[in-house]
Amino acid sequence: MQKISLAIHGGAGTILKELMTPELEQEYTRALNESLQAGYVILKKGGSAVDAVQAAVMSMEDNLLFNAGRGSVFTNKGSHEMDAAVMDGYNLSAGAVAGVKNIRNPVELATAIMQHSNHVFLCGTGANEFALNQKIKMEPDEYFFSQFRYDQWKAMRDGDSYALDHSNAKVEALMKDKKFGTVGAVACDKNGHIAAATSTGGMTNKKYGRIGDSPVIGAGNYANNKTCAISCTGHGEPFIKAVAAYDVSCMMEYKKLSLYDAMYEVVNKKLVAIEGEGGMIGVDAAGNIAMLFNTVGMYRAARNSHGLEVVKIYGD
Ligand code: ASP
Repeated sequence: MQKISLAIHGGAGTILKELMTPELEQEYTRALNESLQAGYVILKKGGSAVDAVQAAVMSMEDNLLFNAGRGSVFTNKGSHEMDAAVMDGYNLSAGAVAGVKNIRNPVELATAIMQHSNHVFLCGTGANEFALNQKIKMEPDEYFFSQFRYDQWKAMRDGDSYALDHSNAKVEALMKDKKFGTVGAVACDKNGHIAAATSTGGMTNKKYGRIGDSPVIGAGNYANNKTCAISCTGHGEPFIKAVAAYDVSCMMEYKKLSLYDAMYEVVNKKLVAIEGEGGMIGVDAAGNIAMLFNTVGMYRAARNSHGLEVVKIYGD
């Protein structure tokens, strides 16, 4: 019988137990669980992998804890510009957005592009215009404000100038906060179709309309029934250069590697070689799941119809 599976991540980075309070750990665990159940219930009812990854990602986009949707980080101009992508491994259809503002659920917009346009990738004001036409839910700027992210941005912004003044204490404080909070989901449904979705606010203090790997098909997000569905998190630039998600697919297709082995090659060898800090989650059409990272931790969770159910934060 076809195994149904779902895996999610809420970002990778320097997530150390000693920097976490028990309350915060509980909050993250609850949020990961909520997202996992939001997606899994769809698969269990016989729904599609695309619907499941969208629901799982939307749940995290609505949660301030994660750097996506509502909890998106601040750009250097003090605004929020979000990126997201979705891909259906059944027919390779895909949708993506970059640099969108005031969209409550960027993954919903990416899915609308995939399902209701002749395009794959929209950016900025054009994407926002399409969102209006599609009646995608918008929110005012205040919705995306959180004191925590604001302080994080201020530390980063001030940190830059302090770093020039060679203030080690400030630099250290910055390093401690070096984590990525992008969210993503991969799923395999009862028909053996797989899908991936990823959503992010990008990197704190980002400049110049910077776009990361998350909305770039093949870099931070990819799905193909023949191989795998992958969602990445980490320092976007190296992930783009490595074409990370597609490379996993290629190694499965051409070298016949298993999902785990192909992901291991990319995460622990190829990305490490170019200082590509981060991780990824993956699923194949048999419903196998893998969750790998080269950072200290990664918020992650997985569930399948063969009894697997895990929620994890730190290294194994
Ligand atoms: N990969 C994202 C980016 O570079 C950041 C993250 O994963 O948190 O935009």
